[in-house]
Amino acid sequence: MIIFGHRSTHLKSAQLRNVKCPNCETQDQMTASVYGRHVHIFWIPIFPAGKTGVFECQHCHKGFKKKGLGEDGKLAYKNFKSTVKTPLWKYSGLAIIALLICWGFYASKQKDNRVAELVKQPACLINILLKQKQGIFLHLKS
Ligand SMILES: [Zn+2]
Repeated sequence: MIIFGHRSTHLKSAQLRNVKCPNCETQDQMTASVYGRHVHIFWIPIFPAGKTGVFECQHCHKGFKKKGLGEDGKLAYKNFKSTVKTPLWKYSGLAIIALLICWGFYASKQKDNRVAELVKQPACLINILLKQKQGIFLHLKS
């Protein structure tokens, strides 16, 4: 059973201008595809973990990695990669964790307020003991 790991998804593709294919020397036929990696727990994306690019010449159909490109290709890819934004859904796990923490603080504050109201009432000790017996309060601060 896979509990956590990482996964890559396609973000964007575009044709790179002014780039020659290192294999067939054809100009303006190189396509770049950017993939974004994210860390997941139970397939819920927690946070993004970088972007990577793959390249294909549309003329000779040969694939390349970034290190296989010339300097012009690396520069064009760097410019293209800067336009690709990481989608917000890749942060959904962090958003869920933040919401759970906020809910925990809110629930704790609500409980403290209820205890403070009970203490102000006459015969509060009897009320608190009755509520504890019913299982509403787990503990009471003194
Ligand atoms: Zn080519």
